[in-house]
Amino acid sequence: MYKNQEHMLSTILQEAKFTASYTGREAFDERVMQAMQLVNRKAFVSGDNKDFAFENRPLPIGHGQTISQPYMVALMTDLVDVTPKSIVLEIGTGSGYQAAVLSHLVRQVYTVEKIPELAESARQRLEALGYKNVEVRSDSGYHGWKEKAPFDAIIVTAAATHIPQSLVDQLKPGARMVIPIGLPHMYQELMLVAKGKGGTTHTDSVMGVSFVPLVIGDDEDLINPNGSSNAD
Ligand code: SAH
Repeated sequence: MYKNQEHMLSTILQEAKFTASYTGREAFDERVMQAMQLVNRKAFVSGDNKDFAFENRPLPIGHGQTISQPYMVALMTDLVDVTPKSIVLEIGTGSGYQAAVLSHLVRQVYTVEKIPELAESARQRLEALGYKNVEVRSDSGYHGWKEKAPFDAIIVTAAATHIPQSLVDQLKPGARMVIPIGLPHMYQELMLVAKGKGGTTHTDSVMGVSFVPLVIGDDEDLINPNGSSNAD
């Protein structure tokens, strides 16, 4: 039998309990769970994948990319502690699902997608679904989105080998970023970067994860070959 959305939500709550010792969170914020309820994941996948939309696993969205596991979307959204006033940056728009979840919780979502076809289809999908506070940019997000910075939160939904300094620079004091760090196509760790009021950053590993790689061009990497956070 195909799973329904109720099943998806209860699986997220269950997994949140299982992982509480890593995340420090027994349950996710009620507002985060409400946002997860308001967004129909089925609208973000196509063809046969619609049958599996409410299963707690990533699904293909074309171009070798995936829509993240619903639990991971809820966790990342919860970890950045957004408010209705927040301005948020997402790197890796993919299907637009994470951006849609965020859009219910914050004032404005800016999201960057490297693959132009995915950026365009996410833009059209979000527009058709009536999301007005999400702006999609087709570009590499390695350097963030300078014109819209600084942000109250940044969610990176592709795995990087290191924490890009440009993203840390675009966090407001008091803001948070979640980003998977590790080797491409292998084990990564979900890192939570918190910028203190004074501007120093503190980085913690939350748990082991597996994401598609953040693609960085050679020319981009040269600008910041050893980007890392200023841990305090
Ligand atoms: N958040 C998405 C899932 C994203 S999968 C969702 O909710 O559906 C990761 C995405 O990151 C892919 O679409 C991939 O194309 C994109 N990506 C990879 N490297 C990138 C980069 N340097 N800048 C922006 N997007 C990138």
